[in-house]
Amino acid sequence: MDDAPFLAPDASTRRQFLKTLSRGMGGAALAASAPPLVGRAAAPAETVPDEETVGVALVGLGNYATGQLGPALQETTTCELRGLVTGTPAKAEAWKKKYGVPDENVYDYDTFDRIADNDDIDVIYVVLPNSMHAEYTIRAAEAGKHVICEKPMATSVRECKAMIAACERAGVKLSIGYRLHFEPHHQRVMTLGQDEVFGPVTVMQNGFGFRISEDATDQPHIEWRLDEEMAGGGALMDVGIYAIQGARYVTGEEPVAVTAHEYKTRPEIFDEVDETIFFQLEFPGGTVVDGSTSYNGSFNRLYATATDGWFEVSPSYGYGGVQGRTHEGPMDLPRDVNQQARQMDAFAECIRQDRPSRVTGEEGLRDLEVIEAIYASIEAGGRRVEI
Ligand code: NDP
Repeated sequence: MDDAPFLAPDASTRRQFLKTLSRGMGGAALAASAPPLVGRAAAPAETVPDEETVGVALVGLGNYATGQLGPALQETTTCELRGLVTGTPAKAEAWKKKYGVPDENVYDYDTFDRIADNDDIDVIYVVLPNSMHAEYTIRAAEAGKHVICEKPMATSVRECKAMIAACERAGVKLSIGYRLHFEPHHQRVMTLGQDEVFGPVTVMQNGFGFRISEDATDQPHIEWRLDEEMAGGGALMDVGIYAIQGARYVTGEEPVAVTAHEYKTRPEIFDEVDETIFFQLEFPGGTVVDGSTSYNGSFNRLYATATDGWFEVSPSYGYGGVQGRTHEGPMDLPRDVNQQARQMDAFAECIRQDRPSRVTGEEGLRDLEVIEAIYASIEAGGRRVEI
C-alpha cells in the first residue's frame, strides 16, 4: 500500500482563515479542561522494532470501538489490542474477557495519565465523543504515546492546532481515523482526479447523510451527536466531513471559498446541531463541488465529471460494500477490505519506519477549516466565504 502523503499543504490559502473565530463551545471547553500545553515533560515515544507488534489502547468503548475497531485489531498484522480506557466497568470486564487484555492495562478517565508508565502501549486510539478528542489526544501525547484520533479531529480549528502542537512537542506521531484513505476505490479516485486521468475534474457531487429517526434520539451514540457542546456540530461534523475529504483528495487541492445553506425540518430534535446542509466548494484549479450532508435522509455518493469522462463511488463511504465505476465501466477492485485494519497497520508501519502518517493532524485541521467556513457562510445567510 502506498502511504506517501497525498496532498501538498497550501499554507497561504489557509492563513487568511485563522482570523475566523472558532465556532461553538469546543475552544472554550478545551481551554477549561485540557491540561496546560507547556511544562509537561513527555518521554519521547519509541519507534517499534520490526519483529515486535505495536500495542494499541482504545479510549472509549462505544459503538465504533466495539463494532469495528476491536474486531479490526484482530485482523491487523502488526498491531495488537493491549489496553483499554473506559468509564464503564462492565465494558472493561467484557472486553478483558473477549480480547485477553490484562488488568494492569485497563484505565479509566481519571487514571488515564498513568498509561505513560506502561511500555505495553505504543498507540492510544481516541474514540470518544468529538468534544473530548482534543483533551485526550493532548494527554496521550503528554504520556509519550503515538495517537490515532477519530474524525472529526476536534470541534474547532483552535483545538486541532493545540493537538498538533502537543504531538510535535512530545515527539509523537498523530494520525486521524480517515479509514477511506486505505480503501481501494478511494485510492483509485485520488489517482483519477489528481493525475487528471480523464482530464481535469470540473464538477463534483459529494454527499453523505443518514436519517436519525425520532425514536433513536435517546440511544447513547445518538444522544451526544445532538448536543452542540459534545459534538461541535451535527451532520456536517459527523458525516459531511467525508464529502469534504472526498473533494479534497480527488482534486488534491484546498478549497478557496464556500457557500452554504442549512435546512431544518425537525427543530424539536435538531435544536442544537445542524440537520441538513448543502454547500458549494470552489477549488483553485476550477473544480466546483456540490456537497450535501444530512441527518434526515440517506445518501452516500462521490461523483466527479472531468473534461474527458467521469467516475463515481456509490455506495461510497461505508465500512464495506463500496462500489466504483467510470464512464469506461466498473472498477475491478476488492469491495470489502477491512479499512480499519489497513489503517492501523499503515500507522504501525509509520511508527516502525519513523515517518508521518498518511493522514496527519494537518489533514484533520484542514477539514475543520472548511467546516468552520461552511458554518460561517450559513450564519451569514449563505454569503460566499473565502477560506
Ligand atoms: P459512542 O457514543 O458509541 O461511543 C463513545 C464512547 O465514549 C462511549 O461509549 C463511552 O465509552 C465514551 N464516553 C466517555 N465520556 C462520554 C460522554 N460524556 N458521553 C458519551 N460517551 C462518553 O460513539 P461512537 O463510537 O459512534 O463515536 C465515537 C467517535 O468515533 C466519534 O468521534 C465519531 O465521530 C467517531 N466515529 C468514526 C467512525 C469512522 O468510520 N471513522 C464511525 C463511527 C464513529 P466508555 O463507556 O467506554 O467510557
